[in-house]
Amino acid sequence: MTRSWVPGAAGSSYDVTNLPYGIFSQPGDQPRVGVRIGDYLVDLAPLAAQEMVDGGHVFNRPTLNDFMSLGPTAWEHVRRWLIDTLSDERERDVVEPFLVPLGEVRLHLPIEVADYVDFYCSIEHASNVGRIFRPDDEPLKPNWRHLPVGYHGRAGTVVVSGTPIIRPRGQRRPAGEDATPAFGPSQRLDIEAEMGFVVGAGSELGSSVTTADFADHVFGVTLVNDWSARDIQAWEYVPLGPFLGKSFATSISAWITPLAALNAARVDLPGQDPEPLPYLQAQEPAGLDIAIEVEINGEVVSRPPYSSMYWSPAQMLAHMTVNGASLRTGDLFASGTVSGRERETRGSLLELSWGGQEPFEVAGDKRTFLQDGDKVVLRATAPGPGGSRIGLGEVRGRIEPAR
Ligand code: CA
Repeated sequence: MTRSWVPGAAGSSYDVTNLPYGIFSQPGDQPRVGVRIGDYLVDLAPLAAQEMVDGGHVFNRPTLNDFMSLGPTAWEHVRRWLIDTLSDERERDVVEPFLVPLGEVRLHLPIEVADYVDFYCSIEHASNVGRIFRPDDEPLKPNWRHLPVGYHGRAGTVVVSGTPIIRPRGQRRPAGEDATPAFGPSQRLDIEAEMGFVVGAGSELGSSVTTADFADHVFGVTLVNDWSARDIQAWEYVPLGPFLGKSFATSISAWITPLAALNAARVDLPGQDPEPLPYLQAQEPAGLDIAIEVEINGEVVSRPPYSSMYWSPAQMLAHMTVNGASLRTGDLFASGTVSGRERETRGSLLELSWGGQEPFEVAGDKRTFLQDGDKVVLRATAPGPGGSRIGLGEVRGRIEPAR
């Protein structure tokens, strides 16, 4: 297996088999593109200029968008170059001046988010939420097994890992049927552990992207924490959809993992019944074996398995464009909360506390929903080549009091 000569990288979860991209800056410098290797990043703009890499000017930009817009041939070309350069000991003298320890940089939001769409692709999560929010109804609506349900979120409030999360205020669900809603800081602030998919190459208005064309358009993946105010959501969302209960902040990782790094993580979907319409039929294996971890105040409270998701990312993309809606560079679509079958694999506190009725222990404290000062970290790993693991960039957030 190919390994890196970068100190500490060989055999780590950030070896040459991974190579996620991000945006960094150092004091007094403009933000620009870096690629992570071990506990370092490579300052790509000057290295690509020195090595005369085709299209290397896109690394001297404050977001990944220009690089992503070049399309799959360029992504593959750059990845090939980086794997060769970072694993060939003879390149060491050339690259070493451009290695920067991660501890010395500030990381920024890696992409300029064009549109943000959030799906609802976990059958366990959708069933649990149905049972909690509509106990007298069928947990799954009749459409759920026929299409990946989704909604359009707020692109401008997607923030990078580490950004503080200010407790949102709003109208909260009244106690009785006809009562006046209360107004104030959300008392049911929650997380949603999700995977996000980043569009690099756009598509034309009026055309659709097939499941087979997924890798021609999607550049990479990121962990997502889709912060949710359950009391605001429960009051506002019937019958339209999520709005202010979700739009105050969505956190993504500082690192976008290229799709190519996840080849060894591809698995079959758990199974779809009934068989979806032809435009949604999956190219197998269409699922991803990504192991997610939810940590609150230093304690792991859940381990949601992405491999349990009902709808695949390629099906989400095909559905999102089947009406002719075009894609733009920087579009972000997220999977929806990842929840497995067991209690300890649920990806939201709503489910872990069963609507707030079953408090659970976190670091010696009782929790139903998040309190001010709580620190949430999402982490994830996936299989790499030859039995290795690759790491996905973590997503951190600390709750600050409402303003
Ligand atoms: Ca969500």
